Amino acid sequence: MSAPPSQPGDVQEAEPHGDAVARVAGERSEQERASPGIAALRLLNDEVVACRRCDRLVTWREQTAVDKRAAFADEDYWGRGVPGFGDPAAAVVLVGLAPAAHGANRTGRMFTGDRSGDFLYAALHRCGFANQPTSVRAGDGLALRDAYITAAVRCAPPANKPTPAERDACRPFLERELALLVNARIAVALGAFAYGVLCTISGVRPRPRFGHGAIAEVPAADGSAEPAPLGGISRIICSFHPSQQNTFTGRLTADMADTVLLDARRLANLPPG
Ligand code: SF4
Repeated sequence: MSAPPSQPGDVQEAEPHGDAVARVAGERSEQERASPGIAALRLLNDEVVACRRCDRLVTWREQTAVDKRAAFADEDYWGRGVPGFGDPAAAVVLVGLAPAAHGANRTGRMFTGDRSGDFLYAALHRCGFANQPTSVRAGDGLALRDAYITAAVRCAPPANKPTPAERDACRPFLERELALLVNARIAVALGAFAYGVLCTISGVRPRPRFGHGAIAEVPAADGSAEPAPLGGISRIICSFHPSQQNTFTGRLTADMADTVLLDARRLANLPPG
């Protein structure tokens, strides 16, 4: 694939550490002012980064940032809510569960700095969505094209298990984000948890059984003035989560991941990757 062009003003680098909290509306760039959708996404990201709604998760994310893993003892952990990352004009939106304690909670970028991210971004690169196969840290040159990555819950949860109350508290961020990704056509649910949240938002009933490659059709808007629940997204494609457990055991292979991502390209009417 060819490398995506750089897209100044997009949310490819979803806020260098500290900046999202420090900036105020009056300091926004010319590009942001000229692109209301991008500006709105950035404002949403600012809210995610600053959010302290869930006591248990705030305590956990911040304690993890202090305790650290020995291999990262010299690094400053992000330790806050993690915003979405990628191409604001994306046709395909990938939705994971939540940041990993020593991955995105350390680096501040979704699926970045752990084995899950290694697997996922390599697949995105093979399938034409990423300019490089690795995602190590914010500012490493990674850019996505036609894809945006986010999660159902934005703070790292103990044991990777948010409570139902935490899931529901965070859901409005995803709802608003999907509405702002105006070109999105296909959602890829990375795991059953994300699938459940996407089905709740979109009103998919009855909910097709989750399985790798399964597809749920999103009901059309009802003709009212309200926007459709998932913006322009018409289908949810399921993928097994690229967790270390799934990829090490072979439950999710590279070929399986590629099949889903290439299906997403085709269903979103993107050219082959
Ligand atoms: S999980 Fe979501 S709602 Fe809860 S504190 Fe984090 S960003 Fe806020």
